[in-house]
Amino acid sequence: MLVKYVIDFSKGSKEQKDLLGGKGANLAEMTKLKLPVPTGFTITTEACLDYLEKKDEISAELDTEIRQHIESMERRTKKRFGATSDPLLVSVRSGSKFSMPGMMDTILNLGLNDETVIGLIQKTDDARFAYDCYRRLLQMFGDVVCGIDKNRFEEQLDFYKSKKKYCSDIEMQAEDWQELVAVYKDIFLEVTHRPFPQDPYEQLTLAVEAVFHSWNNRRAITYRRLHDIPDSLGTAVNIQEMVFGNFGTASGTGVAFTRNPATGEKGIFGEFLLNAQGEDVVAGIRTPQPISELKLLLPQVYQEFLTLSSLLESHYRDMQDIEFTIENGKLYLLQTRDGKRTAKSAFKVCIQLVEEGIISKKEAIQRINPTMVTQLLHPVFEPDHLKNAQVFATGLPASPGAANGNIYFTAERAKKASEQGEKVILIRQETSPEDIEGMVVSEAIVTSRGGMTSHAAVVARGMGVCCVAGCEEIYVDEFLEQATAGNVTLHQGETISVDGTTGTIYRGSIPYVEGDEWQLLETITDWAKEEASIGVKANAETPADIKTALKLGAQGIGLARTEHMFFGEERIVEMRKMILAQHEEALMIPLNKLKEFQKEDFRTMFTLLKGKPCTIRLLDPPLHEFLPQTEEEITHLAKETQRTPAEIKYRIEELHEQNPMLGHRGCRLAVTTPQIYEMQVAAIIESAIEVAQKDTANTNVPEIMIPLIGSQEEMQWLRERLVQSIQKVFDNTGQEIPYKIGTMLEIPRACLTAEKIAEVADFFSFGTNDLTQLTYGFSRDDSGKFIGAYQDKKLLKEDPFQHIDEEGVGTLMKIAVDQIRNFDPSIKIGVCGEVGGDPQSIRFLKKIGVDYISCSPYRIPAAILTIAQEG
Ligand code: ADP
Ligand code: MG
Ligand code: MG
Repeated sequence: MLVKYVIDFSKGSKEQKDLLGGKGANLAEMTKLKLPVPTGFTITTEACLDYLEKKDEISAELDTEIRQHIESMERRTKKRFGATSDPLLVSVRSGSKFSMPGMMDTILNLGLNDETVIGLIQKTDDARFAYDCYRRLLQMFGDVVCGIDKNRFEEQLDFYKSKKKYCSDIEMQAEDWQELVAVYKDIFLEVTHRPFPQDPYEQLTLAVEAVFHSWNNRRAITYRRLHDIPDSLGTAVNIQEMVFGNFGTASGTGVAFTRNPATGEKGIFGEFLLNAQGEDVVAGIRTPQPISELKLLLPQVYQEFLTLSSLLESHYRDMQDIEFTIENGKLYLLQTRDGKRTAKSAFKVCIQLVEEGIISKKEAIQRINPTMVTQLLHPVFEPDHLKNAQVFATGLPASPGAANGNIYFTAERAKKASEQGEKVILIRQETSPEDIEGMVVSEAIVTSRGGMTSHAAVVARGMGVCCVAGCEEIYVDEFLEQATAGNVTLHQGETISVDGTTGTIYRGSIPYVEGDEWQLLETITDWAKEEASIGVKANAETPADIKTALKLGAQGIGLARTEHMFFGEERIVEMRKMILAQHEEALMIPLNKLKEFQKEDFRTMFTLLKGKPCTIRLLDPPLHEFLPQTEEEITHLAKETQRTPAEIKYRIEELHEQNPMLGHRGCRLAVTTPQIYEMQVAAIIESAIEVAQKDTANTNVPEIMIPLIGSQEEMQWLRERLVQSIQKVFDNTGQEIPYKIGTMLEIPRACLTAEKIAEVADFFSFGTNDLTQLTYGFSRDDSGKFIGAYQDKKLLKEDPFQHIDEEGVGTLMKIAVDQIRNFDPSIKIGVCGEVGGDPQSIRFLKKIGVDYISCSPYRIPAAILTIAQEG
């Protein structure tokens, strides 16, 4: 069998991300497109897995293939690897299927040694440049391959500069770098007890092995856990001819996005550094210039870059994140990938691409992750509080949002404080992949160095966490754990507020409100609705919630809980009077008052809904929830009802239940006291008639829903009573309107006998909260005490109140759906429990064939999107 562990850039394509990794596949694609990509090849992920499996041994086959491909590069570049004149130098770059920014390591200038460095000098006539490259190799190789602390090298550089009274690297001369190379080699020897390997092939083999190993380093593993990336993928290794951005002032290196990754705004967005190599831009060591300035410095290169980046964007049909290097006025592309972006940018770019005719609406919908909807509505500070806020410093608005918390200067401390329940903000000179665990727990991230594409900025945007980067005016002292700006010094644990949208940092804690990007959301939701095969309604009853729900795309109301309407101060008194009434007459007085309240609410609902469907559930909770609790409430009620507090207490005693959730609630209340439901249906029908009379466009077909039904008999008996009550309304008003009477499916017995109940119910809606409670026998109100333990011990994968329990509850639901459809396929079946708003559960509910789901208003857009994506 022909082993193929290595594939030339010219032989691969963007579809081969599994085998070549994302970086390799795109380098191959760009090569295929004849773009200026330095030549090279990819060692496949299969080679990596094979290596890790064989307990860390480069097979003879792999070794041979690598050599063959290097030789092929030598022929094409007319340079030789290890030659003493014009040597071939390469970069060794990791790259797995999913981009893991900075998680794995890169080595540049590989192939340099004491002799080839001379060759490079002869070729370029630039000793300063050559020794700079060599010391970079020593530093990167030392760090990545041999695990030598980067600071060991940095310290020596700082020490050397201060000895020479240099302020920056730019002042370093050829001899200076040359001397430093000697120092670095000493460090190498001291730490590894071996000299720096001079044989280029040995360097290469060690580097490849190091990349393979880095797949299993801690930060890579943490990142994979965080993003659900399987460990079994492995990483590819790209070997590529070096081009030099540190070759004088007509050279440079940069990163750019084809559209703004924070806002989605169209147009090139990025940064570059002249006379710099590789990671200088992202590492935040020097603060880079905005890409627009390249236009002035190297206009031709800038133009070419614009052309190539727009070509790449249309080829990939998505916003690209491009790495480039300019060597002596010549532009090279070193990487392209779909750019990571904020939710806002994701929505905006999708909408633009549809408008530009590049992608279809259907495709746009597929590209939006339902969780982005949440991020889209980023928090912002309350404007009133901002007026008097004290600005501590400003920096780059790297990732939008608003947050407040206590500052910590190391990832470790931030993590500890957060575990203790503190809201934390990580503040550092710059972040690196080692900080990831601290970043994850932070409300916001602040750095004093680095640009919009620095590690901190990229990672924060990916996580949807607010970030201000490059606050140069802050002096961050990680050792003393303090940050100073101007004459203010903040210490560990002090509170700040961070505005990632403007780049401002304030002292103290400023309250924020959730942000909103309704416009973008509405566009996408509207498109998604066209694709959605089942409906999405809202659980809402207050005017504010109903308005929000409609704005967010609800088709109507799937659950209006009438009991929520009884909790107002004035109303609850009447409710209590009703509950405490001991004979019919005493009952009717408060009931009639309650009726007026209800009618007021229903009229508002119907008016807002303008004929959209509306399911109203009759009184559901146990009555004790409405009873007075405090002495004060009891005395007040006693006065109102002209009774003694003792009498009230006695009645409360009487109503006491051992197990109220399984007790006298829902339709059972109506079996003992039918007047309550009779009043409620009369209120519903009268309101509907009144609203329709005012404006026929608002004709509503009320869907009256009875909770907690467990048998056909129960349903039939209640239905008859309600129909009589409605008939009375028709007789009194001389008007008739259509209506429906249906029930919840929340008692397991109802699911098992749904076919019979269907004979007397016009529609159904699953109440998954109660159904889960009753199927599992887990009390909704107490399960928090033990579900965690079940999850820890792996007895439960997830909380069944958050994600539908497909195996148990789901089976019951399926039985019910099948039985109902069997009786009459046209009966509407909905879902109105908590899981109705959960994307994962929605996929299942859709499969078992419900007609719509209903959820809280803010979950509606994500629900519509999920349904549309499922097709
Ligand atoms: P990362 O995945 O962390 O971005 P990369 O492999 O892309 O790592 O490389 C890091 C930096 O080195 C990038 O800025 C890249 O442009 C630069 N680089 C990589 N290969 C070369 C090369 N052959 N010539 C010049 N610069 C390179
Ligand atoms: Mg890169
Ligand atoms: Mg219920």
